[in-house]
Formats: sequence, C-alpha cells, structure tokens
Amino acid sequence: VLGLGAVVEDITERRHAEEERTRLYREAQEAVRVRDDFLTIASHELKTPLTPLALRLAGLERRLDRGEQVDPSSLRHARQHLLRLTALINDLLDASRIESGRLALHPQPTRLDTLVEHVIHVTEGTHDAEHRIEFQPPAAPAQVLGDPYRLEQVIANLLENALKYSPDGGTIHVALEPRGELVLLTVRDPGIGIPPDQQERLFERYFRARNVSTHSYGGLGLGLYICRDIVERHGGSIWVESEVGRGSTFYVALPTLPATPVAPPHLPERH
Ligand code: ADP
Repeated sequence: VLGLGAVVEDITERRHAEEERTRLYREAQEAVRVRDDFLTIASHELKTPLTPLALRLAGLERRLDRGEQVDPSSLRHARQHLLRLTALINDLLDASRIESGRLALHPQPTRLDTLVEHVIHVTEGTHDAEHRIEFQPPAAPAQVLGDPYRLEQVIANLLENALKYSPDGGTIHVALEPRGELVLLTVRDPGIGIPPDQQERLFERYFRARNVSTHSYGGLGLGLYICRDIVERHGGSIWVESEVGRGSTFYVALPTLPATPVAPPHLPERH
C-alpha cells in the first residue's frame, strides 16, 4: 500500500510539473503574440501619418517648382501629421523608459489650474470645432509638487482620448476641485464608453478595449499606461468610470502642496 502511495505521489508531482511547464509555455507564447501584434499595430500606426505627409510635401514641391502660391492649410495639415508622428514616437520612447525605470521626473511647485487651461487652449487650437471643451476651474489656485511637463502630458492625453473616443462631437467637461489634501481632476466625455470587464485593464501596457478597432480609432494602447506611471509617481491615483454608449469619466487625484505664505516684500531701509 505504501509503495502504491509513493507511486501515486510521484505521478501527481510529475503531473503538476507538466502542468506548470504547459502554463509557462502558454504564457511565453502569449507574450510573443502580444509583441508581434504590437509590432504590426505600431508599424501601421507610424505609417498612417507618413503617407499623407509625403503626398502633401510632394504637392507643395510641385507648386513651388511651378512658381505657384502655396496654400497655408496644406502646410498646417503636413504639420499635424508630423505632430502625430512625433507623439507616437514619444509614447514609444516613454513606455520603454518606464519599463527600464529611466523616466525621470523634475518636480517643482506647479499650478495645476494654469496647466489645465494651457492644455485646453493648445488642444482647441489643433482640433476641429466638432467638440466643445468646458472647464470648471477651482475656486482657489491648485498647487502641486510635480513635473509640469509630465503632468501636462497626463492632462493632454486624457483630453485627446476624450475627443478621440467621442466621434459624434459633444461637450467635454473638465473640472479641478479640492478634496481635502488632494486635488481632483475630472475629464468627462459623452463618447463610446468602455465595457465594464475591460475597465480595470485600460492602464496596462498595449491594452485597447474591444470596442475600439484599429481601423476606426488609431492608437498604440500606451497613453494611459504612461499616465498611470506618471500619476502614481507623483503620489496620486488615476481611475475611470464609464458606461458603454454613454461616455467615460477619468479621474486623477494628486496631493496638493500647502499654499506657502507670501513673504512680505523686502523694502530697503530709509535713512
Ligand atoms: P490608445 O488610445 O492609443 O489606444 P490609451 O492607453 O490612451 O491608448 O487608451 C487605452 C484604451 O482605453 C483605448 O484603446 C480605449 O479602448 C480606452 N479608452 C481610453 N480613453 C477612452 C475614452 N475617453 N473613452 C472610451 N475609451 C477610452
């Protein structure tokens, strides 16, 4: 009986080892598949702005050769494709910096309300007028200790997504409000929404929800991954609430910097 027991135990152990090997093999296969899919999507995404850019430039060259006037809107479109390309490459570089722990932050006292206003201004200047962006500023200045360049990137990313995933236009509501020791940024859109079972995974690298096909909405699935890293390294958190077909609200909570008392001006003594 004892011998039989040992044999059964041996078989069980071998089966466990076999199952573990199969699991690791499947995981490795999945990782290779994700990487291959990503390379296909990334190459496609990088090529998408390049083709119209090359066409525009060829058109401009022809006109100049013939001594004709150049249409400024052509140049603007060419610049937009170039900006898109730069943004994609920056996302790829940032994601790789995060992976290797090389994304440096340069924190300084930063006015979040001013940053949000700036990002909205820039975004309005580069997008068509199909959407309205409404900003509800905080009653008092919202100051955080953070890297202004990286925080601007987070705000811009959330705003870009709100516009991109609200294809029918509508109003994007942005708000900043104090919550105790924190300041809460909300970006609410009336867009396509996110399926409930996918919401937790949005902040993973390369993840794109199943209701966005590469065909209709370009993207690499890196923006929110980068946002989460930046926000968490500022001691904050980022999350989403969403309903398919009704829209999404992204939240970012960051610790505020207590307002420093303004030092009285130093007046030279009179003699
Ligand atoms: P990308 O937009 O390049 O795919 P992100 O990391 O910014 O990458 O977003 C990851 C995924 O989250 C998107 O592919 C999309 O499925 C979903 N998503 C992000 N923002 C929104 C939004 N405002 N509305 C609906 N879905 C969104």
